[in-house]
Amino acid sequence: MTGETKRNWKPATALVHGGTTRSEFGETSEALFLTQGFVYDSAEAAEARFKGEEPGFIYSRYANPTVDMFERRMCELEGAEDARATASGMAAVSAALLCSVRAGDHVVAARALFGSCRWVIEVLMPKYGIETTLVDGTNMDEWQQAIRPNTRLFFLESPTNPTLEVVDIAAVAKLANGISARVVVDNVFATPLQQKPLELGAHVVVYSATKHIDGQGRCLGGVILSDKKWIDDNLHDYFRHTGPSLSPFNAWTLLKGLETLPLRVRQQTESAGQIADHLAQHKAIERVIYPGRKDHPQADLIARQMKGGSTLVCFDVKGGKAGAFAFLNELGIIRISNNLGDAKSLITHPGTTTHKNLSEDARVSIGILGGTVRLSVGLEDVEDLIQDIDRALGKAS
Ligand SMILES: *Cc1c(COP(=O)(O)O)cnc(C)c1O
Repeated sequence: MTGETKRNWKPATALVHGGTTRSEFGETSEALFLTQGFVYDSAEAAEARFKGEEPGFIYSRYANPTVDMFERRMCELEGAEDARATASGMAAVSAALLCSVRAGDHVVAARALFGSCRWVIEVLMPKYGIETTLVDGTNMDEWQQAIRPNTRLFFLESPTNPTLEVVDIAAVAKLANGISARVVVDNVFATPLQQKPLELGAHVVVYSATKHIDGQGRCLGGVILSDKKWIDDNLHDYFRHTGPSLSPFNAWTLLKGLETLPLRVRQQTESAGQIADHLAQHKAIERVIYPGRKDHPQADLIARQMKGGSTLVCFDVKGGKAGAFAFLNELGIIRISNNLGDAKSLITHPGTTTHKNLSEDARVSIGILGGTVRLSVGLEDVEDLIQDIDRALGKAS
Protein backbone atom coordinates (compact mmCIF):
# COMPACT_ATOMS: atom_id res chain seq x y z
CA MET A 1 0.00 0.00 0.00
CA THR A 2 1.18 3.51 -0.72
CA GLY A 3 0.26 6.56 1.30
CA GLU A 4 -0.07 10.27 0.65
CA THR A 5 2.54 12.16 2.63
CA LYS A 6 1.80 15.48 4.30
CA ARG A 7 2.52 18.60 2.29
CA ASN A 8 1.64 22.16 3.19
CA TRP A 9 -1.92 21.78 2.07
CA LYS A 10 -4.72 24.16 2.92
CA PRO A 11 -7.61 22.50 4.84
CA ALA A 12 -9.88 21.98 1.81
CA THR A 13 -7.10 20.08 -0.01
CA ALA A 14 -6.10 18.05 3.06
CA LEU A 15 -9.73 17.06 3.54
CA VAL A 16 -9.91 15.56 0.05
CA HIS A 17 -6.47 13.92 -0.13
CA GLY A 18 -4.96 13.82 3.35
CA GLY A 19 -4.16 10.46 4.90
CA THR A 20 -5.18 8.47 1.79
CA THR A 21 -3.58 5.05 1.47
CA ARG A 22 -4.03 3.19 -1.82
CA SER A 23 -4.06 -0.57 -2.22
CA GLU A 24 -2.45 -2.47 -5.12
CA PHE A 25 -5.56 -1.66 -7.22
CA GLY A 26 -4.93 2.09 -7.19
CA GLU A 27 -8.55 2.92 -6.35
CA THR A 28 -9.62 6.60 -6.59
CA SER A 29 -11.95 6.60 -3.59
CA GLU A 30 -10.76 5.55 -0.15
CA ALA A 31 -11.02 1.77 0.22
CA LEU A 32 -13.30 0.27 2.84
CA PHE A 33 -11.39 -2.46 4.67
CA LEU A 34 -14.37 -4.15 6.30
CA THR A 35 -12.34 -6.78 8.08
CA GLN A 36 -11.85 -7.87 11.67
CA GLY A 37 -8.44 -9.41 11.26
CA PHE A 38 -5.41 -9.77 8.98
CA VAL A 39 -3.53 -12.86 7.74
CA TYR A 40 0.22 -13.44 7.89
CA ASP A 41 2.44 -15.13 5.29
CA SER A 42 4.17 -17.24 7.93
CA ALA A 43 4.26 -17.97 11.64
CA GLU A 44 7.49 -15.97 11.76
CA ALA A 45 5.72 -12.97 10.18
CA ALA A 46 2.95 -13.17 12.81
CA GLU A 47 5.57 -13.32 15.56
CA ALA A 48 7.43 -10.31 14.13
CA ARG A 49 4.26 -8.27 13.86
CA PHE A 50 3.23 -9.03 17.44
CA LYS A 51 6.72 -8.09 18.62
CA GLY A 52 6.36 -4.79 16.75
CA GLU A 53 9.42 -5.62 14.64
CA GLU A 54 7.43 -5.49 11.41
CA PRO A 55 4.83 -2.87 10.53
CA GLY A 56 1.31 -4.00 9.74
CA PHE A 57 -2.15 -4.53 11.11
CA ILE A 58 -3.07 -7.22 13.65
CA TYR A 59 -6.71 -6.82 14.61
CA SER A 60 -9.28 -4.07 13.98
CA ARG A 61 -9.79 -3.37 17.67
CA TYR A 62 -6.15 -2.16 17.61
CA ALA A 63 -6.05 -0.50 14.19
CA ASN A 64 -7.61 -0.80 10.72
CA PRO A 65 -6.46 0.74 7.40
CA THR A 66 -9.73 2.67 6.77
CA VAL A 67 -9.90 3.91 10.37
CA ASP A 68 -6.22 4.84 10.06
CA MET A 69 -6.98 6.99 6.99
CA PHE A 70 -9.67 8.83 8.94
CA GLU A 71 -7.28 9.43 11.86
CA ARG A 72 -4.50 10.68 9.55
CA ARG A 73 -6.88 13.05 7.74
CA MET A 74 -8.16 14.44 11.07
CA CYS A 75 -4.55 15.00 12.21
CA GLU A 76 -3.83 17.05 9.09
CA LEU A 77 -6.95 19.13 9.59
CA GLU A 78 -6.31 19.75 13.29
CA GLY A 79 -2.55 20.12 13.05
CA ALA A 80 -2.16 17.32 15.61
CA GLU A 81 0.61 14.72 15.76
CA ASP A 82 -1.66 11.76 16.41
CA ALA A 83 -5.29 10.69 16.81
CA ARG A 84 -7.49 7.80 17.90
CA ALA A 85 -10.94 7.35 16.37
CA THR A 86 -13.80 6.11 18.53
CA ALA A 87 -17.24 4.56 18.06
CA SER A 88 -19.01 7.73 19.25
CA GLY A 89 -18.30 11.21 20.51
CA MET A 90 -18.96 10.12 24.08
CA ALA A 91 -16.42 7.28 23.73
CA ALA A 92 -13.91 9.99 22.74
CA VAL A 93 -14.81 12.32 25.62
CA SER A 94 -14.87 9.60 28.28
CA ALA A 95 -11.58 8.06 27.11
CA ALA A 96 -9.84 11.46 26.92
CA LEU A 97 -11.00 12.35 30.44
CA LEU A 98 -10.51 8.99 32.17
CA CYS A 99 -7.10 8.41 30.63
CA SER A 100 -5.86 11.83 31.83
CA VAL A 101 -6.32 11.22 35.56
CA ARG A 102 -6.22 8.65 38.34
CA ALA A 103 -7.97 8.23 41.70
CA GLY A 104 -7.12 11.15 43.98
CA ASP A 105 -6.76 13.67 41.13
CA HIS A 106 -9.00 16.70 40.75
CA VAL A 107 -10.74 17.92 37.57
CA VAL A 108 -12.17 21.39 36.90
CA ALA A 109 -14.81 21.64 34.15
CA ALA A 110 -16.97 24.39 32.72
CA ARG A 111 -20.56 23.89 33.86
CA ALA A 112 -22.25 24.40 30.47
CA LEU A 113 -21.56 20.97 28.97
CA PHE A 114 -23.27 18.49 26.69
CA GLY A 115 -25.51 16.43 29.03
CA SER A 116 -23.54 13.17 28.82
CA CYS A 117 -20.23 14.99 29.33
CA ARG A 118 -21.67 16.47 32.48
CA TRP A 119 -22.67 12.99 33.68
CA VAL A 120 -19.10 11.74 33.17
CA ILE A 121 -17.77 14.66 35.24
CA GLU A 122 -20.45 14.71 37.95
CA VAL A 123 -21.30 11.03 38.37
CA LEU A 124 -18.79 8.66 36.74
CA MET A 125 -15.47 10.23 37.73
CA PRO A 126 -16.32 10.73 41.44
CA LYS A 127 -17.35 7.05 41.56
CA TYR A 128 -13.70 6.16 40.91
CA GLY A 129 -12.25 8.60 43.42
CA ILE A 130 -11.66 11.50 41.04
CA GLU A 131 -12.75 14.82 42.53
CA THR A 132 -14.52 17.23 40.19
CA THR A 133 -15.57 20.88 40.37
CA LEU A 134 -17.89 22.68 37.95
CA VAL A 135 -17.36 26.39 37.29
CA ASP A 136 -18.88 29.14 35.18
CA GLY A 137 -16.55 28.70 32.19
CA THR A 138 -16.83 32.34 31.15
CA ASN A 139 -15.51 33.53 34.54
CA MET A 140 -11.70 33.18 34.75
CA ASP A 141 -11.76 33.89 38.51
CA GLU A 142 -13.86 30.79 39.06
CA TRP A 143 -11.35 28.63 37.14
CA GLN A 144 -8.52 30.09 39.21
CA GLN A 145 -10.32 29.66 42.54
CA ALA A 146 -11.27 26.05 41.79
CA ILE A 147 -7.62 24.96 41.56
CA ARG A 148 -6.46 22.55 44.29
CA PRO A 149 -3.02 21.01 44.86
CA ASN A 150 -4.21 17.83 43.08
CA THR A 151 -5.83 19.52 40.05
CA ARG A 152 -4.59 17.65 36.97
CA LEU A 153 -7.17 18.39 34.30
CA PHE A 154 -9.38 21.14 32.87
CA PHE A 155 -12.28 20.30 30.59
CA LEU A 156 -14.43 22.63 28.54
CA GLU A 157 -16.67 22.92 25.54
CA SER A 158 -16.75 26.14 23.45
CA PRO A 159 -19.09 27.41 22.16
CA THR A 160 -21.30 25.65 24.66
CA ASN A 161 -24.45 23.65 24.09
CA PRO A 162 -27.07 25.07 23.77
CA THR A 163 -26.50 28.72 24.72
CA LEU A 164 -23.36 29.28 22.63
CA GLU A 165 -21.29 30.83 25.40
CA VAL A 166 -17.59 31.04 24.67
CA VAL A 167 -14.77 30.02 27.00
CA ASP A 168 -11.35 31.72 26.69
CA ILE A 169 -9.29 28.64 25.75
CA ALA A 170 -5.92 30.45 25.78
CA ALA A 171 -6.58 31.82 29.29
CA VAL A 172 -7.59 28.39 30.62
CA ALA A 173 -4.51 26.85 28.99
CA LYS A 174 -2.29 29.45 30.65
CA LEU A 175 -3.76 28.62 34.07
CA ALA A 176 -3.32 24.91 33.40
CA ASN A 177 0.29 25.27 32.27
CA GLY A 178 1.05 27.14 35.48
CA ILE A 179 0.21 24.02 37.50
CA SER A 180 1.25 21.41 34.86
CA ALA A 181 -2.36 20.34 34.32
CA ARG A 182 -3.83 19.39 30.94
CA VAL A 183 -6.68 21.00 29.01
CA VAL A 184 -9.15 18.87 27.05
CA VAL A 185 -11.46 20.80 24.68
CA ASP A 186 -14.68 19.40 23.21
CA ASN A 187 -14.60 21.34 19.92
CA VAL A 188 -17.79 19.98 18.36
CA PHE A 189 -19.77 23.22 18.22
CA ALA A 190 -16.91 25.21 16.67
CA THR A 191 -15.96 22.48 14.16
CA PRO A 192 -12.26 21.94 13.32
CA LEU A 193 -12.53 24.72 10.73
CA GLN A 194 -13.65 27.60 12.97
CA GLN A 195 -11.45 27.04 16.04
CA LYS A 196 -8.04 25.47 16.67
CA PRO A 197 -7.75 24.58 20.39
CA LEU A 198 -4.22 23.14 20.04
CA GLU A 199 -2.97 26.46 18.62
CA LEU A 200 -4.63 28.21 21.57
CA GLY A 201 -2.66 26.06 24.02
CA ALA A 202 -5.04 23.15 24.72
CA HIS A 203 -3.41 19.72 24.95
CA VAL A 204 -6.18 17.42 23.76
CA VAL A 205 -9.11 18.00 21.36
CA VAL A 206 -12.14 15.74 21.10
CA TYR A 207 -14.94 15.56 18.54
CA SER A 208 -18.21 13.85 18.13
CA ALA A 209 -17.73 13.06 14.42
CA THR A 210 -21.44 12.25 14.45
CA LYS A 211 -22.10 15.96 13.97
CA HIS A 212 -20.55 18.12 11.24
CA ILE A 213 -17.85 15.61 10.25
CA ASP A 214 -20.40 13.08 9.03
CA GLY A 215 -22.74 15.98 8.34
CA GLN A 216 -25.45 13.88 6.77
CA GLY A 217 -26.99 12.16 9.77
CA ARG A 218 -25.72 8.64 9.03
CA CYS A 219 -23.36 7.25 11.63
CA LEU A 220 -21.85 7.81 15.05
CA GLY A 221 -18.16 8.41 15.52
CA GLY A 222 -15.60 10.34 17.51
CA VAL A 223 -11.94 11.24 17.56
CA ILE A 224 -9.29 12.31 20.09
CA LEU A 225 -6.32 14.36 18.88
CA SER A 226 -3.14 15.26 20.75
CA ASP A 227 0.64 14.90 20.68
CA LYS A 228 2.03 11.46 19.95
CA LYS A 229 3.60 11.02 23.37
CA TRP A 230 0.36 11.71 25.25
CA ILE A 231 -1.52 9.26 23.03
CA ASP A 232 1.20 6.59 23.34
CA ASP A 233 1.43 6.99 27.12
CA ASN A 234 -2.26 7.44 27.95
CA LEU A 235 -4.54 6.12 25.22
CA HIS A 236 -2.69 3.34 23.41
CA ASP A 237 -3.22 0.51 25.89
CA TYR A 238 -6.69 1.72 26.91
CA PHE A 239 -7.85 1.52 23.30
CA ARG A 240 -6.37 -1.93 22.73
CA HIS A 241 -7.82 -3.43 25.86
CA THR A 242 -11.19 -1.71 26.34
CA GLY A 243 -12.27 -1.49 22.68
CA PRO A 244 -14.03 1.83 21.97
CA SER A 245 -12.87 1.33 18.34
CA LEU A 246 -14.62 2.92 15.36
CA SER A 247 -16.16 0.58 12.79
CA PRO A 248 -14.30 0.65 9.44
CA PHE A 249 -17.62 1.24 7.69
CA ASN A 250 -18.29 4.33 9.81
CA ALA A 251 -14.70 5.51 9.33
CA TRP A 252 -15.22 5.28 5.58
CA THR A 253 -18.47 7.28 5.80
CA LEU A 254 -16.73 9.92 7.93
CA LEU A 255 -13.79 10.11 5.47
CA LYS A 256 -16.24 10.92 2.70
CA GLY A 257 -17.90 13.45 5.05
CA LEU A 258 -14.57 15.21 5.55
CA GLU A 259 -14.27 15.82 1.80
CA THR A 260 -17.23 18.20 1.86
CA LEU A 261 -16.84 19.57 5.42
CA PRO A 262 -15.53 23.05 4.41
CA LEU A 263 -18.29 23.55 1.82
CA ARG A 264 -21.01 22.50 4.23
CA VAL A 265 -19.75 24.42 7.26
CA ARG A 266 -19.25 27.58 5.19
CA GLN A 267 -22.79 27.43 3.79
CA GLN A 268 -24.41 26.47 7.09
CA THR A 269 -22.58 29.26 8.94
CA GLU A 270 -23.62 31.82 6.33
CA SER A 271 -27.27 30.71 6.53
CA ALA A 272 -27.17 30.63 10.35
CA GLY A 273 -25.88 34.23 10.38
CA GLN A 274 -28.71 35.34 8.11
CA ILE A 275 -31.29 33.54 10.23
CA ALA A 276 -29.85 35.04 13.45
CA ASP A 277 -30.05 38.55 11.97
CA HIS A 278 -33.61 37.91 10.87
CA LEU A 279 -34.67 36.58 14.29
CA ALA A 280 -33.01 39.50 16.10
CA GLN A 281 -35.52 41.93 14.61
CA HIS A 282 -38.55 39.61 14.92
CA LYS A 283 -41.15 40.71 17.49
CA ALA A 284 -41.97 37.13 18.58
CA ILE A 285 -38.36 36.54 19.65
CA GLU A 286 -37.02 37.64 23.04
CA ARG A 287 -33.31 36.90 22.72
CA VAL A 288 -30.92 35.69 20.01
CA ILE A 289 -27.50 34.26 20.78
CA TYR A 290 -25.23 33.84 17.79
CA PRO A 291 -21.42 33.85 17.96
CA GLY A 292 -21.16 35.71 14.65
CA ARG A 293 -23.18 38.75 15.82
CA LYS A 294 -21.80 41.95 17.34
CA ASP A 295 -24.37 41.76 20.16
CA HIS A 296 -23.01 38.42 21.42
CA PRO A 297 -21.85 39.19 25.01
CA GLN A 298 -18.39 37.84 24.16
CA ALA A 299 -17.96 39.24 20.65
CA ASP A 300 -14.36 40.38 21.35
CA LEU A 301 -13.25 36.96 22.54
CA ILE A 302 -14.99 35.33 19.58
CA ALA A 303 -13.10 37.61 17.18
CA ARG A 304 -9.80 36.57 18.84
CA GLN A 305 -10.50 32.87 19.20
CA MET A 306 -12.72 31.79 16.32
CA LYS A 307 -12.39 32.05 12.55
CA GLY A 308 -16.13 32.25 11.97
CA GLY A 309 -19.54 32.12 13.61
CA SER A 310 -21.50 28.95 14.18
CA THR A 311 -23.85 26.66 12.30
CA LEU A 312 -26.15 26.86 15.35
CA VAL A 313 -28.42 29.62 16.57
CA CYS A 314 -29.93 29.77 20.06
CA PHE A 315 -33.02 31.90 20.67
CA ASP A 316 -35.93 32.45 23.04
CA VAL A 317 -39.45 32.37 21.70
CA LYS A 318 -41.91 34.61 23.56
CA GLY A 319 -44.41 32.77 25.74
CA GLY A 320 -42.01 30.40 27.54
CA LYS A 321 -42.30 26.63 27.03
CA ALA A 322 -45.81 26.89 25.55
CA GLY A 323 -44.65 29.47 23.01
CA ALA A 324 -41.59 27.38 22.07
CA PHE A 325 -43.64 24.18 21.70
CA ALA A 326 -46.30 25.91 19.55
CA PHE A 327 -43.52 27.26 17.31
CA LEU A 328 -41.76 23.89 16.98
CA ASN A 329 -45.03 22.13 16.17
CA GLU A 330 -45.81 24.57 13.34
CA LEU A 331 -42.46 24.16 11.54
CA GLY A 332 -42.57 22.33 8.21
CA ILE A 333 -39.04 22.10 6.76
CA ILE A 334 -37.12 22.36 10.01
CA ARG A 335 -37.58 19.09 11.90
CA ILE A 336 -37.67 18.52 15.65
CA SER A 337 -34.57 16.54 16.60
CA ASN A 338 -31.89 16.72 19.28
CA ASN A 339 -29.13 16.06 16.72
CA LEU A 340 -27.04 18.77 15.07
CA GLY A 341 -24.58 19.43 12.24
CA ASP A 342 -26.81 17.63 9.74
CA ALA A 343 -27.61 18.66 6.14
CA LYS A 344 -31.19 18.85 7.38
CA SER A 345 -32.12 21.78 9.64
CA LEU A 346 -32.98 20.47 13.10
CA ILE A 347 -34.45 22.22 16.12
CA THR A 348 -34.69 21.20 19.75
CA HIS A 349 -36.11 22.49 23.03
CA PRO A 350 -33.13 21.75 25.33
CA GLY A 351 -35.03 22.24 28.60
CA THR A 352 -37.23 19.20 27.93
CA THR A 353 -34.78 17.06 25.91
CA THR A 354 -30.97 17.30 25.98
CA HIS A 355 -30.89 19.13 29.34
CA LYS A 356 -34.00 17.66 31.01
CA ASN A 357 -31.87 15.93 33.68
CA LEU A 358 -30.65 19.24 35.10
CA SER A 359 -32.59 20.93 37.89
CA GLU A 360 -34.52 24.05 36.97
CA ASP A 361 -31.90 26.15 38.81
CA ALA A 362 -29.02 24.46 37.01
CA ARG A 363 -30.74 25.08 33.68
CA VAL A 364 -31.36 28.75 34.39
CA SER A 365 -27.76 29.16 35.58
CA ILE A 366 -26.55 28.18 32.09
CA GLY A 367 -29.15 30.31 30.33
CA ILE A 368 -31.72 27.67 29.36
CA LEU A 369 -35.16 29.24 29.87
CA GLY A 370 -38.67 28.02 29.06
CA GLY A 371 -38.70 29.56 25.60
CA THR A 372 -35.11 28.65 24.66
CA VAL A 373 -34.66 26.65 21.46
CA ARG A 374 -31.52 25.56 19.61
CA LEU A 375 -31.53 25.53 15.81
CA SER A 376 -28.93 23.57 13.83
CA VAL A 377 -28.94 25.12 10.37
CA GLY A 378 -28.79 22.71 7.43
CA LEU A 379 -28.12 22.98 3.72
CA GLU A 380 -31.59 23.98 2.56
CA ASP A 381 -32.06 27.33 0.79
CA VAL A 382 -31.94 29.97 3.53
CA GLU A 383 -34.99 31.78 2.11
CA ASP A 384 -37.08 28.64 2.55
CA LEU A 385 -35.83 28.30 6.13
CA ILE A 386 -36.64 31.92 7.01
CA GLN A 387 -40.09 31.52 5.46
CA ASP A 388 -40.65 28.35 7.50
CA ILE A 389 -39.62 30.15 10.71
CA ASP A 390 -41.77 33.21 9.99
CA ARG A 391 -44.83 31.15 9.16
CA ALA A 392 -44.46 29.02 12.31
CA LEU A 393 -43.89 32.07 14.55
CA GLY A 394 -46.94 33.75 13.02
CA LYS A 395 -49.19 30.76 13.58
CA ALA A 396 -47.83 30.07 17.07
CA SER A 397 -48.37 33.56 18.49
C1 LIG B 1 -23.09 15.14 20.39
C2 LIG B 1 -22.05 15.64 21.29
C3 LIG B 1 -21.28 14.76 22.05
C4 LIG B 1 -21.50 13.26 22.04
O1 LIG B 1 -21.32 12.70 20.78
P1 LIG B 1 -21.99 11.30 20.32
O2 LIG B 1 -21.37 11.06 18.99
O3 LIG B 1 -23.45 11.53 20.28
O4 LIG B 1 -21.61 10.29 21.34
C5 LIG B 1 -20.32 15.30 22.89
N1 LIG B 1 -20.11 16.64 22.97
C6 LIG B 1 -20.84 17.51 22.24
C7 LIG B 1 -20.58 18.96 22.38
C8 LIG B 1 -21.83 17.05 21.38
O5 LIG B 1 -22.55 17.93 20.67
